[in-house]
Amino acid sequence: MNIHEYQAKALLRSYGIPVSDGRVVLKAEEAKTAAGELDGPLWVVKSQIHAGGRGKGSFVEAEAGEKGGVRLAKSVEEAAEFARQMLGRTLVTVQTGPAGKQVNRIYIEDGSDIERELYLALLIDRKTSRVSIVASTEGGMDIEEVAHSTPEKILTITVDPATGLQDFHGRRVAFALQLKGAQVKQCVGIVKNLYKLFMDKDMDMLEINPFCVLKDGSLKLLDAKMGFDGNAIYRHPDIAALRDETEEDPKELAASKFDLNYIALDGEIGCMVNGAGLAMATMDIIKLYGAEPANFLDVGGGATKEKVTEAFKIITSDPNVKGILVNIFGGIMRCDIIAEGVIAAVKEVGLQVPLVVRLEGTNVELGKKIINDSGLNVIAADDLSDAAQKIVRAVKG
Ligand code: ADP
Ligand code: MG
Repeated sequence: MNIHEYQAKALLRSYGIPVSDGRVVLKAEEAKTAAGELDGPLWVVKSQIHAGGRGKGSFVEAEAGEKGGVRLAKSVEEAAEFARQMLGRTLVTVQTGPAGKQVNRIYIEDGSDIERELYLALLIDRKTSRVSIVASTEGGMDIEEVAHSTPEKILTITVDPATGLQDFHGRRVAFALQLKGAQVKQCVGIVKNLYKLFMDKDMDMLEINPFCVLKDGSLKLLDAKMGFDGNAIYRHPDIAALRDETEEDPKELAASKFDLNYIALDGEIGCMVNGAGLAMATMDIIKLYGAEPANFLDVGGGATKEKVTEAFKIITSDPNVKGILVNIFGGIMRCDIIAEGVIAAVKEVGLQVPLVVRLEGTNVELGKKIINDSGLNVIAADDLSDAAQKIVRAVKG
């Protein structure tokens, strides 16, 4: 689960980590008052979406002079005007995909005099099963390019969970970032608090870009991106409360409400499968026969008729879906329940695309009979390759 920059900064502040003062704004009318509460003489107006690259992003149908989702204002009035321009508009960045994301919240914050922009991140390194700290002197808006063409400018330190974070980790970061004098001590404190926050809240990603040296020599975190382990969210009601559902794929959101494991993909064949392994195999075999899956969907072992109906609705709500493959192995799940769910769903939402059903396992004969007696135009399949070939042929001709 991800949160907005302003929410991340509130967490950082509560751990004593230096961030700027700021105000979140939901309506354009609130912007002037909000900006007036900050000191100036520089205000930064920041679009809040769950994606980075905002500074270099652009708005759909941008008007002349409009530059990016992060803008520097020289007066309260200008800050309010920028906020008004951004609210409700769609911002496209390298991380949003071409469709972009609608900006519904603005964060107005005190502008800082930046000397240098650095990069600092904590993340879970799956290879070592440990937390890694990643640091680079080349922070700012081009870190992806740095990682690509000059990876030697990025330092990675792995923390042993037995000892936890030690001061030497912080000092190594400070020296890699070419910090001097009092900055080293400040950096050690910041790294220590970031690690504590990361562990306390079960994060899987914490990215500070830019981590800044200001003109007055102090350190400040000017951007923050946080991701939390979805499996641990139940331990953190304070974090769960920060969820912004408007930022999530509506199909994935609906699926999560029914406890379905669904991930939207770009292909044309919708898949309804039980068991993650079978779902992966189904996606592979669709590719093998020359088409692309439109989603990953595991309806789970103990799916009810309602759950199957919901899953079917989610698949058919995707306009890219040109055909559906239901591939069920009835172990715990009974084939007749799946059959009833599919029929109920088709009756409710209608079926505009070809549907191939492959059932195997408990009550398979009953399941097949229910489908055959339903009068629906369903293509039956016997095994996995048969099913994949039939749906690919039905979609591609
Ligand atoms: P994104 O990473 O989505 O582009 P950032 O929050 O990193 O958004 O902002 C982009 C750039 O804007 C930063 O690299 C920094 O140069 C500048 N910036 C952001 N916040 C401030 C601030 N409070 N004061 C001065 N400059 C800022
Ligand atoms: Mg940034």
